[in-house]
Amino acid sequence: MSYDTVREVDPAIADALTGERERQNETLAMIASENHVSEAVLSAQGSELTNKYAEGYPGERYYAGCAHADRVEELAIERAKKLWGAEHVNVQPHSGTQANMAVYLAMLEPGDRILSLELEHGGHLSHGHPANFTGKTYQVEQYHVDVETGYIDYEGLRETAESFQPDIIVSGYSAYPRDVEWTRIQQAADAVDAYHLADIAHITGLVAAGVHSSPVGIADFVTGSTHKTVRAGRGGIIMCQAEYADDIDAAVFPGGQGGPLMHNIAGKAVGFEEALSPEFEAYARQVVDNAKALGEQLQDHGFSLVSGGTDNHLVLVDLRDSHPDTTGKEIEQALEEVGIVLNANTVPGETRSAFNPSGIRAGTPGLTTRGFDDAATRKVADLIARVVDHPEDEGTKAQVNEAVEELTDRFPLYE
Ligand SMILES: *Cc1c(COP(=O)(O)O)cnc(C)c1O
Repeated sequence: MSYDTVREVDPAIADALTGERERQNETLAMIASENHVSEAVLSAQGSELTNKYAEGYPGERYYAGCAHADRVEELAIERAKKLWGAEHVNVQPHSGTQANMAVYLAMLEPGDRILSLELEHGGHLSHGHPANFTGKTYQVEQYHVDVETGYIDYEGLRETAESFQPDIIVSGYSAYPRDVEWTRIQQAADAVDAYHLADIAHITGLVAAGVHSSPVGIADFVTGSTHKTVRAGRGGIIMCQAEYADDIDAAVFPGGQGGPLMHNIAGKAVGFEEALSPEFEAYARQVVDNAKALGEQLQDHGFSLVSGGTDNHLVLVDLRDSHPDTTGKEIEQALEEVGIVLNANTVPGETRSAFNPSGIRAGTPGLTTRGFDDAATRKVADLIARVVDHPEDEGTKAQVNEAVEELTDRFPLYE
């Protein structure tokens, strides 16, 4: 894709777009929530559907001229149902947060109770953080991971549910490296007559490919993002049983959104079609293999991983054991200088602050899209270790930067 037409109108934005493409080509995207979509998804997202108002749902729109929009949305829904085995799917949420918002709007009243994982233990803002509308609208209580093991404290969750009597329990996380026991959380929800929302934003693609356990058919509601592991462009999705279909659809539109972003829904449809292929299953499997390789190699370099390893696409490194004087933020910055882009993250039992935490989170979806295998991923772990050992050594960083360039040349991304 060339930005020549943008450049004719707006050279500043053309420069920024070209710069961003170069940045993605020349650096390793290891932010666990990021990935790279195909040219086909990019093209669908850049289509004329951005012009079209299609408030409502296929076959029942508030505007004329929706035949093609209907086709696009119907196909996106059909493919999503196949991918996740859901009874009902809504593909209109503008983002993962909007998907969660629709579930709360559909099922809760202001003042109702949400039980969710503490943010510092891997939860998400939209699960009840005080700065988010959820924290302002609902009463929120939190469950935790066991600080010793790094695994969800399911027993503690059940006890907190009994004392707090939530209306909804939220599972699904942003920085949790382990598989989730959906059934145990469902049992805790059943015991107190609460709904269960499983927010699989990070692992949407892994669940679709069958390389991570699925909450579909267990939890009442499953929300996801379409731009993380599933590579279908930025957006959200909701899945539920047929009995909740009307309530969920009404909560998305007109409850919380206006016209759907039809161009993004076209991107979702194309990305879902790609995800239905056998190649995608192989991709998802490699994502997990690469995360394991990354984790093992970091452990060989003396790093501590929260929970001791990973079952999914990410590892969470607790720097306090191996590098007590180094913070996550320092490492995030030093690594960005060499072309490895990941983020500082809080760890369970955090002793620093959310802004300058003790951990780093690293994911493999982006690298795997470029074609990285176990061996190449282990090389990246070696490079990370060198920088963490010498974050201020310019010579080391120059050498690591060269090694990153070799890798990005070997595994090219966008033309
Ligand atoms: C990424 C994420 C979301 C979605 O976030 P948006 O930025 O709103 O798309 C929701 N829940 C969790 C757990 C996430 O990690």
